[in-house]
Parts: sequence; structure tokens; C-alpha cells
Amino acid sequence: MNSLWSDSKAGEFPGDLGQRIYTSRLLGREKSLVLHGGGNTSVKIIEKNLLGEDETRLYVKGSGWDLEHIEAAGFSPVRIDHLLKLAKLKQLSDPQMVNELRTHMTQASAPTPSVEAILHAILPYQYVDHTHADAIITITNTADGLTRIREIYGDNVVIVPYVMPGFDLARRCAEQFAADARKNTIGMVLLNHGIFSFGRTAQESYERMIDLVTWAENYLAKNKAWVLPESSEKLEAKPRRRELAALRHELSRVSGFPLILAAHDDPASLAFARRDDVGTISQQGPATPDHVIRTKKIPMIGRDVPAYAKAYEKYFDEHAPKSKEPKAMLDPAPRVILDREFGVATAGRSAQDAAIVFDIYAHTMEIIQRATALGGYKALPAKDIFDVEYWDLEQAKLKGGGSPPVFAGEIALVTGAASGIGKACVESLLARGAAVVGVDIKPSITSLYSRSDYLGLVCDVTDEKQLSEALEKTARTFGGLDMLILNAGIFPPGRRIDALATAEWDKVMRLNLDANLMLMREAHPLLKLAPHGGRVVVIGSKNVPAPGPGAAAYSTSKAALNQLARVAALEWGVDNIRINSLHPNAVFDTGIWTEQVLAARAKHYGMTVEQYKKNNVLKTNVTSRDVAELAAELCGPLFAKTTAAQVPVDGGNERVI
Ligand code: ZN
Repeated sequence: MNSLWSDSKAGEFPGDLGQRIYTSRLLGREKSLVLHGGGNTSVKIIEKNLLGEDETRLYVKGSGWDLEHIEAAGFSPVRIDHLLKLAKLKQLSDPQMVNELRTHMTQASAPTPSVEAILHAILPYQYVDHTHADAIITITNTADGLTRIREIYGDNVVIVPYVMPGFDLARRCAEQFAADARKNTIGMVLLNHGIFSFGRTAQESYERMIDLVTWAENYLAKNKAWVLPESSEKLEAKPRRRELAALRHELSRVSGFPLILAAHDDPASLAFARRDDVGTISQQGPATPDHVIRTKKIPMIGRDVPAYAKAYEKYFDEHAPKSKEPKAMLDPAPRVILDREFGVATAGRSAQDAAIVFDIYAHTMEIIQRATALGGYKALPAKDIFDVEYWDLEQAKLKGGGSPPVFAGEIALVTGAASGIGKACVESLLARGAAVVGVDIKPSITSLYSRSDYLGLVCDVTDEKQLSEALEKTARTFGGLDMLILNAGIFPPGRRIDALATAEWDKVMRLNLDANLMLMREAHPLLKLAPHGGRVVVIGSKNVPAPGPGAAAYSTSKAALNQLARVAALEWGVDNIRINSLHPNAVFDTGIWTEQVLAARAKHYGMTVEQYKKNNVLKTNVTSRDVAELAAELCGPLFAKTTAAQVPVDGGNERVI
């Protein structure tokens, strides 16, 4: 591991806190040091308070900030005198400790200080860096981890046995440091947890961290435990969407709410899932307890969700304290699934959550394999892991943030999603917490959004093979399909029947009608497995109840699609799939309505553009967003008992009324 320190870059960060920000970001860039909040830093600064008195403040990373992107506002200033007094107490509960941290800040608006703040306070150096370095966790997760750490570091580090994060750990570290620190001590190793480094300057503390971790990495390399095994096997190319959707259905059933399931068949994941000893090495426990809350105690091997849930309930019964107020069991669904066929799949309440679980487990796989090569992976006893899994502070974190969005854990696919009504539908569904797949023939669909809950696919919906591939990717990325918005379609130039070429008719029918039949047919097995029931919304047209001259192909295709939806409602009700249609009219903020077209149409009717736009009963302007919001609502609980409905979104049309 190399130091990323640069004198010129460091110069752009003036002051003690500035230097703290700079090297915190350097640590944050190295994912094998800090991953999703695993790690924190601090600096001690003497400042004048309002009364003109000198006061030493510990600026420590606040919760909710990650080191890579931290700014001054991400550090919470706490009066250090108070922290040092607290460190001498015999006992302090975690909620009490958090209360003390929050009430002794000098900035009311600062974030809650890290639960490791007292630990930072007791180390007598201006700068303190703390990471959960993979290399340290690897070495300390072996039977003779302690001996190995001594061998690597001598008295360059103070060694602290495993204690759960919180007040007890801080006190233990204070005692150990007072007893064992020598002149050449530059760090502190916390077994099965991580490592601290410290120094007089930000650079010194940071570079000591890099040095200490590099020694551990070199030790692994010297002991032939660095290079990871690779699999040369290729994944058999066959559709897996039904299997994945069935697995997600089971996971969601057991957890009690819809989950996103993301499958990963990259070489590293596949190699791990296919190891002969995976049934042993993956079943001990997480590499470090701070991973447990996201990844659950152990991964599931294979697909027997009920068996996993039963074992999880047993684990809870065995370890839960039999106190007056028993801790509530977390939902018993696994978050990591190892399968020879599809590799590693991770589950989460949102796409982002499933992605975080994968990030963490990707590191866990490396740690387990390296520790195995070093002589045998040995996780902490189940009791310690349980204590963290059901930790008051972690439970509070999980409960925080109120109720989840209405479509949390659900997946929607929208066709014709690059612009107009389709694009607006993507936005309305994302806003309600769904993971969304946008499908369009335009390449711009792939870069519509850059976020973990959006997948853009270039796809010609009239091509059966491309449709199948899109559904396959949907299931691999998110685990299945709950909602389908059939929006793609064309509105060809006006043509009377006596001049309507067969080829033109065919083209309109192919896109507006046949493509939807094919997609509905292929999506049906997935929709059937939707945890809350499948939902289909058809973007129809005013032309269904009120056709216009010159639009034979369009009106006919939409009328036929309308009839297809009605038959689907009859056939699919038994599968708990609802299908409803919207009939928009005169939605002018879409691609086909350029200013010239609008002006020409308005002139044709002898109106101004404004009059033409609001030429309806309510004299209102109908936008893509209006249609999209209603489409999303049709998928929601308000319409849970409605199927085969046809709802106009047209401001009221005299011909329809
Ligand atoms: Zn830590």
C-alpha cells in the first residue's frame, strides 16, 4: 500500500482541521482500509470559547459522513476534558455515552460524534487515524492472530483484545495504552476490529497508518496468503431470471417485505462460490462485527430460504438475553447468498443496500480466503457477533428514518423511457423508492441517471431476443419484476385509410401492439412472483374511446392494446397481477410536439398555441408528469383492488364524456 500524500495538494488545506480533512480523504480513497463508514479520524485543537478561555476540542468524524468525501462540517467538536473524565468511569451505557458526546459538543448543529470518540480522546497525540484495514482483520481472524501481530509489530503497536465497540472498548484501550505504550509505539491494533495510528502531524499519523498496514500486507505475501485463487470456469449461458425471481420471492416472503436481489458472477465471486470448502469457510461469521448488521451472521449456501430462516431463529433463541425486555429479532432472511450456479447474490431493502452488502462481502471473501491460506480463518465467537447484531445503537440506526418509501424493495420496468411520459414515469417510480429499469431504443437511455437503483438498457422492443435479454438483465441486477409500464409507441404522420401502405400499418402494429404482447408474455412469470403482486400499467390514448380521422393505424393499435389489457386482467387476476390503463390526450411536453408542430396544429384549428394546449373541459395543461404520477399511483396501494380500469388523463374531453 502506497502513501498518497502530496505536499502541493496538502498545501491547499490550511490549518489543523484542513490537514485533518486532507488525510482523512486519502484514507477514504483506499477501500481496503475503510468501507462504508468503517473508520474514523480526529484532531485535537485548542480554541478560544466565547468567554475568551482556551479550550481543547476533539474534532472527530461525525456519523453519517464517509472519509472520502468529508468536509469541515463532517467533524464534530467535543470538549476533550469531559471525554477524558468519562474515560475514567467504571460504567457507561451506550445510549448514555452518545448523550454525553452530543451534549458536550461546542457546535449544536454538528453531527453526532463517532461512538469511538472517547478512544480518540485518550490517545495523547494531536492526530489519530483509525481504520478497519482488511490486512489486519485477515491476520487477527486466525487461530494464532495475536502471536502473528506481535511477530509483525513488536512494541511498535499496543495490542488490545476484542471488545465490542462502545464505552468498554474505549476504557480498555486507555488502560492497555497506559500499560504497554513505549517510546517507539506508533499504533494500536484492536484484534478482529482494526488499527489506530497517531502522530504530531496529519502526515505523520497518515503515513504511519500506511506503513503499519503495509507491514501486514507484506507478512501475508511472505506467507503465501496474498494472491487469491482464481476460477477458470465460465458461467453456463442460460436464462436465470425465473430462478432468481423465485429466490427473491422466497426471501421477501420470509423477511416480510420486498427485497432487491443483486446477482454477481464476476470471476472473484464465482471462484469463491465454487470453492470446494465454501461450506466450511463461509459459515463461521463475518470478518469484523461491524459488517454483521448489513450482511447478517452467515451467508446462505444454496436456495433453501426456510431452512436458513429456521436456523436464524434458533441462533436468536440461543443467544438472546433472557431479560425482562427481550431484544426483537431482526427479519430472518439472509443478505448474502452463495450459489454454484449464479455466484454471489446480495439482498437489501433497496438497490443501494444490496450494493453495500456486496461491497462488504467482496472484501470478506478476500479476508476469508487469505486467512484460510495463512492457516485457517477463525471468526469471533457467535456471542460477540450476536452482541453487535443486536446492539442498541445499531438497532436504533436500523429503525431510524421513519417508514420506508411505498415501493421500497420493488422493481419497475418502463418502456420508451428515454424521454416524455416514459422518462417521467422513471422519475415518479424512483421517487417512490422503486428500483427502475428504463428501456429505450435510444442510446441516451443508459446515461439517464447514474445511481444504483437505475438501470438503462438499449433495447428494440419489437425484437423478442432483445426483450428477453432486457428481462434477464433486470432479474440479474435487481432480482425480478413487480411493475411494468408499457409506454413505448409511435404516432405516425396523418394518413387516410385510402392511402395507408401495408408496411406503415405493420410498423405501427409491431411497435404499439405486438411488442407489448411479447413483453407481457415474457414478463408474466416474473410478475407472478412479485412479493406484493404484479402490476401493469398501459399508456393508452384518448384515441381508444375517441378515434380521429387520419390516425387509423395508431387508433387501431391502441384499441387492440386496450383489448389485450382487458383480457390480461381476466387471465392474470388469479396470479394477483393487476393491469390498468391510462388514456392521456394532448400531452405536449413530449418529443413529437416540437414548437413548429404545435404552431401548425393550433393554426389549423384557428387557435393560439396556449388555447390549443388547454383545449379541454377543465382548460388545463396536461403534462408528462401528470400522466407519470397517475401511472405510479395505479401501481400503489390506493388501487390495490382495481384491475382493468381505464382512466382518462386529458383535462376532460367532450367526445369521451
Ligand atoms: Zn472501529
